[in-house]
Amino acid sequence: MSSDSISPAAILREVFGYAAFRGEQDEIIDHLVAGGDALVLMPTGGGKSLCYQIPAIARHRAGKGLTVVVSPLIALMHDQVGALEEAGVHAACLNSSLTFAEVQRVEREMMSGRLVLLYVAPERLTTPRMLAQLDALRARGRLSLFAIDEAHCVSQWGHDFREDYLALDVLHARYPGVPRVALTATADALTRADIVARLELGDARAFIASFDRPNIRYRIVEKNDARRQLLAFLREEHAGDAGIVYCLSRKKVEETADWLAAQGIPALPYHAGMDAGRRREHQDRFLREDGLVMVATIAFGMGIDKPDVRFVAHLDLPRNIESYYQETGRAGRDGLPADAWMAYGLADVVNQRRMIDESPADETFKRIQRGKLDALLSLAEAHDCRRARLLAYFGETSAPCAAPQNACDNCRHPPRTWDATEAARKALSCVYRFGRQRFGATHLIDVLRGKQTEKVAQFGHRGLSTFGIGADLPDARWRAVLRQLIALGHLRVEGEFNTLELVESARAVLRGETRLFLRQPSEKPQGKRRGASGARGESGRAPPSMDAGEAARLAALKSWRVAVARERNLPAYVVFHDAALVEMARQAPETLAALAEISGVGAKKLEAYGRDILRVLAEHTG
Ligand code: ADP
Ligand code: ZN
Repeated sequence: MSSDSISPAAILREVFGYAAFRGEQDEIIDHLVAGGDALVLMPTGGGKSLCYQIPAIARHRAGKGLTVVVSPLIALMHDQVGALEEAGVHAACLNSSLTFAEVQRVEREMMSGRLVLLYVAPERLTTPRMLAQLDALRARGRLSLFAIDEAHCVSQWGHDFREDYLALDVLHARYPGVPRVALTATADALTRADIVARLELGDARAFIASFDRPNIRYRIVEKNDARRQLLAFLREEHAGDAGIVYCLSRKKVEETADWLAAQGIPALPYHAGMDAGRRREHQDRFLREDGLVMVATIAFGMGIDKPDVRFVAHLDLPRNIESYYQETGRAGRDGLPADAWMAYGLADVVNQRRMIDESPADETFKRIQRGKLDALLSLAEAHDCRRARLLAYFGETSAPCAAPQNACDNCRHPPRTWDATEAARKALSCVYRFGRQRFGATHLIDVLRGKQTEKVAQFGHRGLSTFGIGADLPDARWRAVLRQLIALGHLRVEGEFNTLELVESARAVLRGETRLFLRQPSEKPQGKRRGASGARGESGRAPPSMDAGEAARLAALKSWRVAVARERNLPAYVVFHDAALVEMARQAPETLAALAEISGVGAKKLEAYGRDILRVLAEHTG
């Protein structure tokens, strides 16, 4: 084996068809190839897989044998293995979904030394049978590397904690000379410390990437008719695209999916209340079919490595910034532009506050949860760069969005603000005038606006000095004021009827010592802003700048890809990513050599599909 064939850059080009490493990939890879331990923190879509796959290939070619990848995501192993085999890398998985005969076949491949990568679930890795096999490989010097994916699962602080991950400390004790790499997209310091401690990675070199997702466009809109707003967003900006819509409750998931389907948008529900078979079927269809919208609770998403999720929409407020970042992070793993869209309103603030207040947790826990919610609310209410705020939360300083095409809403259209101090004082003093009686937001607004409702009559609120003092502002403005007052903690929401109560800090606002600036609601409906929708192709998925010929070639390549993927029982993106097809459609190469230049076309794929692709392109060029 020549030394060039094991150089990481050569493997990147030849096997994966990519021209250059991203970020710290090359340093991480060199470190592992040389036998060091590593902890890799990188955002979703950052390219973690190559960080262990290339060392695995390089070390296997150098005669060092098998790389074992520990992953909790059994449902996705098949596709990961499929993607490697498509690229010409011999890989397999061992998990509970295999028959005994299949297990034996994989074990034979593993013991023969031919296998480059083996994906296993943690509970399988630590069985006596598996450990005995690894011992045997180790004795022959054929155990090359351990990669522990989703390493945050070892942390009891997170939501993804897996008991089985704790047993992985055996690897260090049993195979001291075998390098280990732990990888995660969870950013916080607590989790990181836990990973190092529990997996005995004290001597590992830490590679911590920026958590910026430059291709995600963050946008948070004021909720007025959430479903209609969502529909407009989908129709105008994401016709035909795959995406995820998050809702808080199972009921809302079902209703929203039904409603979208009735509007002609292919949508499927997913939540923990569905039976396992139906859940699997929906996940499978989302991964395999083009352009499906998954309407889901947070039960959906961990490890979904579908690269072409073009948007993540939130119809309800997530619990905190960590959740928001993780959920929105499932968009745009392929690096192409993607949207993180959220509709947010008064009811969201009220609900999330109440969920914390009414949870059975102890006060300390509740205080932490409230603090985290506050941070998310200030992101939602922000007038300045969302991206910078998001990163600041994770301890990273960054400048506001640079590239205009991927900028957040606030950078693209700096919001105008209005001084809401007077309005806030009116609202607070109205709550004060209610005295010992408590009322909800609706009644408060009615009183401020001077409406003659039954309730106003019943409680004699016409007589209040605050009756009608807010007639100059429409209801929506008042809701924004109340939302802000609740978000800032000047008003508290109580009890079954969501009644409002003053908090001590309201005094400073009432005295005019705290000023309040609110975002000016935009006159135009949200949406139609990129002006690109009109130029999109029939399928809605062609990038706006494509001409008719390019769009036709792209459509032809996509239908070719669907057929190949179906034949191989793999998701379409495993055959080729959208980005690769877009480049092929644009450049319309006429020779294999020219095709090989396109990013994502490795040697094996060129050999397997090159001629077919040239034929498809030729048929649609001329
Ligand atoms: P992560 O596991 O960190 O979320 P992946 O490993 O799935 O990310 O990589 C995200 C996408 O980026 C994949 O589609 C991968 O093929 C692609 N990718 C990774 N590294 C590179 C690179 N150096 N050049 C081009 N594409 C890359
Ligand atoms: Zn910005």
